[in-house]
Amino acid sequence: MGDCPVEWNTRDRSQDLYRKFASQVQKIAPYNPDFLYSRFRAIGCLEIDGPNNNWDGFPYEDFEDDRPNFGYTSFIGKKAFVEHQSHTVENSIGELPGAYLNRFIIPDQFTGRRYATLDSWDTDERRSVLDLPDQRDGSIEVLMAIDSKTSPRVARIIESGQSLGCSMGTNIAYSICTICGNVAHFEHQYCPHIKYAKGQTHIVPASDMNELVWDRKLIRPEWLPHVLSSQQDVRSVMQKQASKNLRARAFEVNRELSFFELSVVAAPAFNRAYMLERVASIQGIELVDFSSLETPELIALGISAGLIDLATLPDERLEELGVLIGIL
Ligand SMILES: [Zn+2]
Repeated sequence: MGDCPVEWNTRDRSQDLYRKFASQVQKIAPYNPDFLYSRFRAIGCLEIDGPNNNWDGFPYEDFEDDRPNFGYTSFIGKKAFVEHQSHTVENSIGELPGAYLNRFIIPDQFTGRRYATLDSWDTDERRSVLDLPDQRDGSIEVLMAIDSKTSPRVARIIESGQSLGCSMGTNIAYSICTICGNVAHFEHQYCPHIKYAKGQTHIVPASDMNELVWDRKLIRPEWLPHVLSSQQDVRSVMQKQASKNLRARAFEVNRELSFFELSVVAAPAFNRAYMLERVASIQGIELVDFSSLETPELIALGISAGLIDLATLPDERLEELGVLIGIL
């Protein structure tokens, strides 16, 4: 025993951490052996992925929104469904015990500031974040715990390793039309572009787009590459040129998001919305290619479920977990 002091130190520290830890993580994800845990990429942001196949765009800053029941954390504690059959909770196939935002890396010159506070009209602050090499994709990942007793069919798909799509449900405060800037809080307030021609391209005078971007500030400059059909058109709006026509795509920019469900679906509206990996087995012994668990929430879940033995983790991971105790 005495000839291996380092290992013992690590183990003591592990157990100490674990005790602190267990009391915290049980609250977010109590382990249930009847559940299968899977990580899904639920939604991508407008800035990186553009609008989805339903021609809905979701700005990154609304993922960051940390008001209660807004932003990415609003997924947590909601239910999972199949094909958005969420009108009654009886259709639920499980729970959403965790969510994670692949946060944009903020360059050094903006340290301490959130993306939402960065300017994009007078300076290129947001553009410099988005253009950062190796920038993250700003997507939201959600942990889904599927009840294998009530949903054996979905559980079998997960166990078989087949690809499984997903699609989220969200409430929004309002949406903005990318062609005319109409703000709609309810469906009856939709402009004709959104009501009849969503996803179609329209010829728009550059002066009109300039007004939406620079005067009314309804469309942000960093969204333009997804609204306009060419780099040249984007440049002409950025330079406030007014004497030409542009080709612009009609879609809705959805603001102030409050997520209320995540469904497994056959045909996701967001092309990259798929299960990333299965996180836990029913017996909960093996899972755990630990290197694939990048998110603190998932590591916490693994530990609370008894799937990850803290004594097996390298020291630098333990340091991260020490930080995580603060987060939880
Ligand atoms: Zn419109």
